Amino acid sequence: MSDNPETTVDFGFRSVRRAEKAGLVRAVFDSVAPNYDRMNDLMSLGVHRVWKQVFVSDLRPSAGDTLLDLAGGTGDITFGWLRRGGGPVILSDINLSMLSVGRERAIERGFIGDLSLLVANAEQLPLPDRCVDRVSIAFGLRNCTDKSAVLREARRVLRPGGRFLCLEFSRVTVAALAPVYDAWSFRVLPQLGWIVAKDADSYQYLAESIRTFPDQQTLAGMMRDAGLGRVTVRNLSGGIAAIHAGWRL
Ligand code: SAM
Repeated sequence: MSDNPETTVDFGFRSVRRAEKAGLVRAVFDSVAPNYDRMNDLMSLGVHRVWKQVFVSDLRPSAGDTLLDLAGGTGDITFGWLRRGGGPVILSDINLSMLSVGRERAIERGFIGDLSLLVANAEQLPLPDRCVDRVSIAFGLRNCTDKSAVLREARRVLRPGGRFLCLEFSRVTVAALAPVYDAWSFRVLPQLGWIVAKDADSYQYLAESIRTFPDQQTLAGMMRDAGLGRVTVRNLSGGIAAIHAGWRL
């Protein structure tokens, strides 16, 4: 992918200058951070909790293993990993507002010992090669400008035998679901955003960014191109979300 800042990339349904996208995404998450967890419950009617539980199980937490949780935001995946007996975690995100909510939640839950926080762009990680056993990214890859760079970085920091897992919205595979899902995404979500957080635009971006994200097979191909092996895809709720997994062999 070109890294010329003048080329364009998608920001929801809009095309914006490549150099502009990170700032626009930052503004979205600065705006949603205080209401992020409440809005997730409302928008998904609680289903995101089930998807995250399945995702954490697929990470196979183990006390001897370390996790890098990329775009980890307010910490749901990190806390799931620690709750299930996983080893030390780096909770990382580009956005200080989201990470600050994550830090408060970690303190409330008593998860401090095995947790470090890192403000970092997932496209350019300030970490050495081969330093962690798992890399997770949940609902984060969609927001990154250079998704292939994130996948390459994930592979670079994994130890051989380590595993990368991505939980993300994907392409609905059950035709009957599509009209209801579209109505929910484009009519209900922006209104909910307005009512709860006085911010319809960020939730309009959310719905649009889901539609422009690569489908299951395209993302699996991008993972292989980044050097990850034995790539698998698991659809959740008829493809509304999917878990992609791959190994550093
Ligand atoms: N993983 C959390 C969860 O599942 O609840 C948070 C997901 S939230 C929808 C997306 C997160 O991606 C935001 O916290 C945002 O700041 C982060 N993000 C966006 N672009 C990023 C980048 N280039 N590098 C790291 N994090 C990024």
